Amino acid sequence: MELLLGIDLGTSGTKTVLFDSDGRRLASHTVEYPLYQPKNGWAEQDPEDWWRAVQETVRTVLAKSGAKPEDIRGIGIAGQMHGLVMLDGQGQVLRKAILWCDGRTQAQCDEITRTVGREKLLSITANPALTGFTAGKILWVREHEPENYEKCRHILLPKDYIRYKLTGEFATEVSDASGMNLLDVPKRQWSGEILSLLGIDRSLLGEMYEACQVTGQVTKAAAEATGLAEGTVVVGGAGDNAAAAIGTGVVEEGKAFTTLGTSGVIFAHAGQVTIDTQGRVHTFCSAVPGAWTVMSCTLSAGLSLQWFRNQFCPAERETAAALGVDPYELMTAEAEKSPIGANRLIYLPYLMGERSPLLDSDARGMFFGLSAIHTRGDLVRAVLEGVAYSQRQCLDVFREMGVDVSDMAICGGGGRSPLWRQMLSDLYGCPVKTIASEQGPALGVAILAGVGAGVYDTVAQGCAAAVRTGEKSMPDSGRSAAYEPYYNLYRRVYPALREQFGTLASLE
Ligand code: ADP
Repeated sequence: MELLLGIDLGTSGTKTVLFDSDGRRLASHTVEYPLYQPKNGWAEQDPEDWWRAVQETVRTVLAKSGAKPEDIRGIGIAGQMHGLVMLDGQGQVLRKAILWCDGRTQAQCDEITRTVGREKLLSITANPALTGFTAGKILWVREHEPENYEKCRHILLPKDYIRYKLTGEFATEVSDASGMNLLDVPKRQWSGEILSLLGIDRSLLGEMYEACQVTGQVTKAAAEATGLAEGTVVVGGAGDNAAAAIGTGVVEEGKAFTTLGTSGVIFAHAGQVTIDTQGRVHTFCSAVPGAWTVMSCTLSAGLSLQWFRNQFCPAERETAAALGVDPYELMTAEAEKSPIGANRLIYLPYLMGERSPLLDSDARGMFFGLSAIHTRGDLVRAVLEGVAYSQRQCLDVFREMGVDVSDMAICGGGGRSPLWRQMLSDLYGCPVKTIASEQGPALGVAILAGVGAGVYDTVAQGCAAAVRTGEKSMPDSGRSAAYEPYYNLYRRVYPALREQFGTLASLE
């Protein structure tokens, strides 16, 4: 038996999954932990909670599967990106980790942009200074908690703390390190220039690896704590989206996945490094050696439909509960009766402002073209279409950058809707397919572990062996052509109103 273990260190909990080399899931277990919000806009977690969750999930998975620990050929860790873990010289945690969704560092991000220069920062780290990213958090601790900064000897990303606990090694890998504002993304190594401009000592940062390289072995102490076999190899692993890309088979040019969760993400494979000079989409190192990825993030994708359901569909919710079906299914069935263009109704999905491709926190949602003929089905259809247009607009930015996509996988709750999948396929002009194995990031890092341990020769070979697709929606040229005038109008509505959104935001 050749088994592979994937550990997915998420924000709500850690999910550990044991797979065989064909990608079949043998056992899985999740343990949750708290998120601390000591102030409005702050978000922290205790790295010790993560380690406890890893120990418990690994033990449970071993017990549930009855697997022999010696049969596990390799371990991969996927993780929430960007978080800051600080350790002292003894490897003890100095303060709670500051997470990706913590917004306290705007002043530090402005300082980074001033010190490095916006263009240089973009050309080296491939991204602007963002409050979610790690560099601003390091500067914040140096400024506000100098006593912690002075004692700090090791700076790690969340999943790299788990690597340290498992192997005793201080290391990271290129996909996750891409979200720190400290990596030279084209060269795939720490940027000496940025580190020295920001006054951050290189020795604080771990060794840099590719995602599928072996970074260490499970120590005796970790083996006792988890039930794993001493000496089991641990590979680099990957940031959560980079890991999901592997778990959905997005490992070659032309491939991408869309996630329609609360937010909407498109994550595409790129054979060359390509950077959007306007900072509308992110460029990261891929978990595939020698490749990169581009990523867009729209803030209110599934959230738009959820908002509509919560505010306007109480009857559907009751009926659905009585029938034992999902209210979204009743809503999308209503929308299916409305034609393409929703009877000339356009919805802008900017309920929370927008990131990709507009970068405007003042933007807001709207229905454009409401008339007394419109039914609720038209409104639901307009919401589904508006979200699909926003994804298409992101894909247009990728295509402008030279990253074409001809094969799209779909994940997240919105991917369950055949109507939404078909809209995306017609608007993207390419097939959209579901993934049968819903273990995205955990499977992705298990595949990476398989490459490091020699079970597979390459990441692509691992994906071919272990990733199984489900249903496929094919684009239809007639429908694609019918959407085009509505999509073009959708794209013109926001620019026509840009200033008015600012005015609206300034009103009491
Ligand atoms: P999260 O980002 O919170 O993990 P999920 O991936 O669970 O989100 O997706 C939740 C969203 O998926 C909901 O807000 C809703 O818009 C959408 N969704 C869930 N089920 C369906 C369905 N059957 N049809 C259409 N949309 C759905």
